[in-house]
Amino acid sequence: MINLTNFAFRMDAQIQHVEFIGSFPKFKDLPESKFPEFCFWGRSNVGKSSLINYLCNRKEIAKVSSTPGKTQAFNQYLINNSWIMMDLPGYGYARISKDKKELWAQEIKRYLNGRQNLCLLFLLVDSSIEQQKIDIETINDLGEKNIPFYILFTKTDKSTKRKLSINKQKFENEVSQFWETLPPMFETSAEKAFGRDVVVSAINAILKSI
Ligand code: GDP
Repeated sequence: MINLTNFAFRMDAQIQHVEFIGSFPKFKDLPESKFPEFCFWGRSNVGKSSLINYLCNRKEIAKVSSTPGKTQAFNQYLINNSWIMMDLPGYGYARISKDKKELWAQEIKRYLNGRQNLCLLFLLVDSSIEQQKIDIETINDLGEKNIPFYILFTKTDKSTKRKLSINKQKFENEVSQFWETLPPMFETSAEKAFGRDVVVSAINAILKSI
């Protein structure tokens, strides 16, 4: 006999349907939406495109970067006809003009301050390197803006268990200097196809609660 509870859970933790909504160069171009929005963001090269492709179980939903920082736009996908995945351009890419950087920082600021249906932001942090100042600054900014966010550690396959644990601990220590409570943190690896269930389950749990 089919165990309906397990079945429902497994179906729950899947992304079955992905529809590209569009790529929008400016915040003011973003269509308003009734769907709750979950945003994915992080430093350029953190593994965001790879993670999005893995979560969606598709090869090329998001372009794995050959030229990071080149195309900067708000990319949106409607998932399972029930929520929006927002793919924000990565920050911290060095080879981009100051003007362009500034323009994008403004657009992101408008988005973070003004997106009415933004439900949760997933901030991706590369677990294979030591904590980066720019990530900590971003976290502090999100906290100050009261944006709810979770941390997704990426590329967990790249380090030994010990090194991974050290990097995570250093990161937590750094964040703890500024904040009393830490956000939920999950480990992922697009390379080893690890972490999807927990991310999609977290999204589904939030969707159920609203
Ligand atoms: P983005 O710039 O944040 O979109 O990052 P990409 O998805 O383009 O990935 C940047 C680089 O990291 C690419 O060379 C990927 O192959 C690599 N990468 C991404 N995810 C993983 C992962 O889970 N494990 C490993 N080992 N490499 C990864």
